[in-house]
Order: sequence, then structure tokens, then C-alpha cells
Amino acid sequence: MFRAFSIQVRGVVQGVGFRPFVYRLARANHLRGWILNAEDGVEIHLEGEDPDLLLFLEEMKSRPPQAAAITEVRVEPADAAGLAEFTIRESIGERRPTVRISPDLPVCEGCLQELLSPHDHRYHYPYINCTNCGPRYSVIRRLPYDRPNTTMADWCLDGFCGSEYADPANRRFHAQPVACPACGPHYFFQTRNEVVRGDAEAIQEAVRYLQSGSIVAVKGLGGYHLACDARNAEAVGAMRERKYRKEKPFALMAKNVGVARNLVDLTPEAEALLNSLARPIVLALAKAALPGVAPDNDAFGVMLPYTPLHHLLFAAGCPEILVMTSANRSSEPIAYKDEDALEQLSGIADGFLVGERPIARRVDDSVVRAGVLGPTVLRRARGYAPSVAATFPTDRPILALGADLKNTITLVVNGQAFVSQHIGDLDHYESFCAFRETIQDLLSMYEVDANELLLVHDAHPQYVSTMHAANLAAGRKCSIQHHRAHIASVLAERGAWDKRVVGVSFDGTGYGDDGTIWGGELFAGSVREGFERVAHLRSAVLPGGDAAASHPVQAAAGYLGQLDAQADLTAGPFYFPSRYLDALQLVKSRLRSFATTSMGRLFDTAAALLGFTREVSFEGQAAMWLECLATHAPATAAGVYPFPYAGGELDFRPLLDGMIRDRIRGRDKREIARMFQRGIAEGLREAVAALCRAHEVDIVVLSGGVFQNELLAGDLKCLLEPEGLQIWTNHFVPSNDGGISLGQAALAALANSCASASLKDTASAWTAHVT
Ligand SMILES: [Zn+2]
Ligand SMILES: [Zn+2]
Repeated sequence: MFRAFSIQVRGVVQGVGFRPFVYRLARANHLRGWILNAEDGVEIHLEGEDPDLLLFLEEMKSRPPQAAAITEVRVEPADAAGLAEFTIRESIGERRPTVRISPDLPVCEGCLQELLSPHDHRYHYPYINCTNCGPRYSVIRRLPYDRPNTTMADWCLDGFCGSEYADPANRRFHAQPVACPACGPHYFFQTRNEVVRGDAEAIQEAVRYLQSGSIVAVKGLGGYHLACDARNAEAVGAMRERKYRKEKPFALMAKNVGVARNLVDLTPEAEALLNSLARPIVLALAKAALPGVAPDNDAFGVMLPYTPLHHLLFAAGCPEILVMTSANRSSEPIAYKDEDALEQLSGIADGFLVGERPIARRVDDSVVRAGVLGPTVLRRARGYAPSVAATFPTDRPILALGADLKNTITLVVNGQAFVSQHIGDLDHYESFCAFRETIQDLLSMYEVDANELLLVHDAHPQYVSTMHAANLAAGRKCSIQHHRAHIASVLAERGAWDKRVVGVSFDGTGYGDDGTIWGGELFAGSVREGFERVAHLRSAVLPGGDAAASHPVQAAAGYLGQLDAQADLTAGPFYFPSRYLDALQLVKSRLRSFATTSMGRLFDTAAALLGFTREVSFEGQAAMWLECLATHAPATAAGVYPFPYAGGELDFRPLLDGMIRDRIRGRDKREIARMFQRGIAEGLREAVAALCRAHEVDIVVLSGGVFQNELLAGDLKCLLEPEGLQIWTNHFVPSNDGGISLGQAALAALANSCASASLKDTASAWTAHVT
């Protein structure tokens, strides 16, 4: 029977070759009609015979283009218009755009083949792309996704590219960034003294620099990288020195999977992540020695080439393993504008490989791991952002501003939660600017009406993000407590709004309900009904506030000061520096000291007892050092320090007592570290099992930066699953503070737990603070 249908498809269906795919599919099935990009997906009108229509639908759903992700297909009967053929129509753009912008995509097999074929028109052209691959989020300035709205607007298609762009049977049909050597942008290589033009010549020159141990700034998709030969210890050392980056691990780019396999221990899961469309940096156990790349660390972060330029660099003979680190000074955000990069990096890079195509917004590389509890995202940016991390049962637009460290923001439009790329630590001015830009960017892209907007921020009155909330226009504003947001982020990923759970939220620092510093919290409840704090780490003292986060011995004073027996920790084998004694004085005098239940600082204390008595040079360093030590404990090392749970409190004193005693007795530090970690897991098992019984739930949610500790995650899996408890943790957003914005949005969306914040008070408190 002859019929007509109107079909709406939602999901990632723009900029991924969906229209040409549908065009070919419709023609192959003798169907007539049209397709167009609408603001909330694509619209298709089809006319034809029943069996053909059915075949079309089946195939569209089961074999869409590689980078497409269909979330919803709505089919409704329509009036037949008696069309003669199937066509692709112009985009429409009048309603609010809620289409999902595709993340940036790695170069596809088809383009890679052409890139390396001497007879191809785009042979060795670093900007080759097609509808299956290439830049998206990093070139889109406005929606809908059409060329004039991208950073390619300044380059006009020539006849060659134009004919491919217009041919529905071609892989480049409506590929918005399409270009060729004749009509598109190019790369050039620049040093203080010279500029080398021509793609091939520029790349060859950059390779010569890399081969000789120099540092080259390379413009990529979402910003600049600093590259050098990872096997050249001198080059790596120079990079650390010039970048003021003492110890934080550098990311690596391996020429291909074979090289990566020799570099790190790749489980099938890790290799799948490495090859996934996001092409993230994958953390895995190091197999090779590369001095200076990741000091005191068992793991390397490795990624594969993902732009045509990367492939050309390797094809031109650059070293097989490159350090590829975000181009910035210390912890500033990645540089993405040419003038900024040239200025900021002039003292770091010996040469610049600059591409002419502008970058619309900065997007850093993502960092992931195939963890014991499943895939884990540590930094969510390129390849993932701005894809939808959750679908909310609400129509109201919500903007959640996240936390001040590892900031991301989340915008919910028509129930779709778009989580921004990693922005960084807002106490850096540059990151704060990036934060403001990203807010404006997302709000204007999705044309959000400020009057309708529900604005959500952390409960910390002194957070930069909280302060900024006061300056933003919104119909309503509210605050969400930090650790509840961690738990909600896990449940939001699963859309589990009513699921009652016990939530464990362990991290370094967050503002608690009582104004003290929380970080070792257990909750019971659901997103909809809210979370009640039902247990926590025994309260300790944080002497000197924020500085304690950088100095493990300073944090240690607040925990060790509570022990009955006081060993002299400035003597051997501990050798704590005098900062410890000063901090003890603060604890005793209660001056500049704050109550805290921070689990992160307890890990720092343990690290200090085992020898990490210096200042940390990046966040989480002491805890990572401790984990590394524990991982190397002899397999025969048994035993566990007690971490008893009673009356809603986990008591760290016996744990630390045991460590001090064994350390004085000369026990192997690795064993002590292992027993500490096992103690944490055992104590937590006891607490969680009791709480799950009391609240009649069997799901335990783990979130917060502490759970990036793989050894702890593994111990908990072994202990909780035999108790019949399921562990839920983050897979799409980080369990560190990068996931906070999603959790804030979730709790605010479900309303009951949204505390009305007195933003006026907050604003005046800040004014008082800064003046
Ligand atoms: Zn391609
Ligand atoms: Zn061209």
C-alpha cells in the first residue's frame, strides 16, 4: 500500500553524515520525499510502498553512520504530496535549537587513505575531512551547523570541493568544513627568525625540530599542544623546566596501536577506549621507561593520532612517541588563539606549527581509564563534549555552574543535559575567563531565555562560581551542597531519579551544611527525595585552611593531633619539617583552624607518615603517590589497620596509630600503605553494610575524587559485591569535581532538595572579602 510518513529523528544526527546516508537509503528503497536539518534533529518526509518504508526504517535504525547516535525516532502518518524524487532541503532555524552538536571526530579510514595516496587531490592535506570525520564542536560558532556558522566561513569552496559538497552520493555531501589544498586553509612553521610556508615544508621542518630534541607548539583541534620526543630525556626535562611543571605526568601520543602496546599494558577494554571515536588519553600501566614523563607514577597517559596533521607528522618521520601536553603555562587553560599561543609560549616552544583555521572554542584532550569498576572519565573534553550526559524529566532550562576546581558547567535544555568541556581551576584568572565564555557560549548557542532559567551553584559562599552566580540573570537561583551533587551525578547518568541508595562521597574539600569542610560523607536517599547525611569521617582539624591541601604534613597535624600517644614525628623515621610543628600549634590554639571530615586530607596524612613530607606540586599528588606505594606491596602482605565504624562515625585514629607503630618498628612502607588502603575499604564496608540494612537499600553509589584510586575501587568491589550490594559509580562524567555540575543540575531539576540561596548575602560577603 502506498503511504506517506513524517519522521523525526533526535540524537547526534547533524554533522555526522546523516542526511547523505538517509538520501542514499531512501533512493535505494525507491522512496520519495525529503530530509532537512531541523533545530531539534532531522525531519524526514517519505512517500512509498509499505515494504520499502519498513526496510528503510529498519536500516536507518540499525546501521546509521558511525558517529551518529539516534536516541529517538518518531513516525507519524502524513499526507502524500506526490513528490517525484527524494531531495535534501535547506535547514530551517526558527525555534529554539536543541539539536545535539557532535563532538570533534578523528580522521576516518577513507580520508586517511586519501591523505596518504600520492595521486589523491588531497594528498598530504592536513585539513582533509568528510561527513564521517573532522572538526565539529571546535569549529561551530552558531547553530544550525552550516558552513557560514563555522570557523571555515572565510574559505570559499572551489569547483572541486563544491561539486563534492553538492553531490548527495559523495562522502563529502554537505561536509561543512570540507576543503582542499587549492581552496582551504594551510599550515606554516614559524620560529623567531623565519616562517616556512607550504604544508609539506612546514611539517617537515617541525619534524626536524622534534627529531633534534626541540619543543614544538602544534595547533590542533581544540587548542595548542607542546610536543617533544618522549624518548629524549633532555627534551622532556627542558619541557618541565620551561613549563614550570615539576612532576605532573605528561600525556603521550604514540604513532600507532603497535607502539602504544609496547608503551603500556593495554587490556582489551583499554585498547577499545584508545581506539574509540573520542580518541582520549588512556591511562594504563607503563611498560617502558621514559625518564621524566611521569615521575613516581606507574601509569602513562597515551593517545593515538586523531587529526590528519598528527598522521602527517608521523608519516614524515617524527619520533614514534611524542610528549603531547596542553600548551599552557602551569595550570592555565589550554591556549587556542594564535596570538595568545605565540605570546604565552614564546619562552617554551622553539617553533610553532600553526594552522590557519581558527578554533571556535578551547577543547582539551579527554583523559579516561578502563577501571576495575568500568570505564572512568578523569577529564571530559574533546571527543565527549558537548554530548548529552543525561536526559532529565524536565522542560525547564537549567544552568549548573559546578565547583571551583576542575570546573565544568552543565546546561539542561528540553531535558537534555549538555556537560561542557573541562574548564579548569577557577582561581586562575584565565580559567575564570574561560568559565564565563563557556557559560555565554552555551546559553547563546541554545538561545536560553534568562527569565525561564534555573541557575544552580555550589553552597560554598566563597566559591568564585557562587559569586559569579550573583551576577547572572536567571528566573530562579538555588544552591546545592557539594557532596550531594557528587552522588546525584552518578544517578543522573543512569536516569535513576527515584532509586534509593546509600551514597559515599569522598573527596578533598567541599562546603558542608554546617559551614565546616566536608569530604568523607555518607548519605541515604534519592535524587527526588534528597539525601540525608547519615554518617561521616570523624571530624578532624584543618590548620591554616587551603594551604593544608598543598602540604601533607600540615594537614597531618589536624588528624595526628587527635591521637592519644604522640610520637615525635620530626625525628626518624618520619622527619616531618617544622611546618608540622607550626601547624600543631595552630591546632592547639584553634587559630585559623577549621573542622573537617575530609577523606582526601586523611590520605595526605597517611602519605606524610610514609615519607611524602614535601609540598605537593599538583592536586591529588600525595594520594596518588600513596596508591602507587601500596600497589607495589609484596603479594604476601596481609593485614589491615582497623578503621572502626560506630554511631555514624568512621574513626581514623586506630588506623593512624597502627601506621605510626609499624613505621617505627621498621615495617616495609609498601606494606603499611597497603594495610592503610585495605583498612579504609574494610571500614567503609562495615559502614555501608550497616547503612544499607538500616535504610533497606542494596545499591551503593561511590563518587568523589578519592574513588579515582583504583586500588580502593578494587578492594571495595571485592568486599561489597559478596554482601549482595551493587556498586554504582560515574562512567560519563568524572567522579572528581568535573562531575559536580551534572549532579547540581539533577538535584535542582527534581526540586525538593534545592535550597533557596540567599544570593544577596553571598554577594555582599564576597564584596567584603575582596575589598
Ligand atoms: Zn573522513
Ligand atoms: Zn577545494
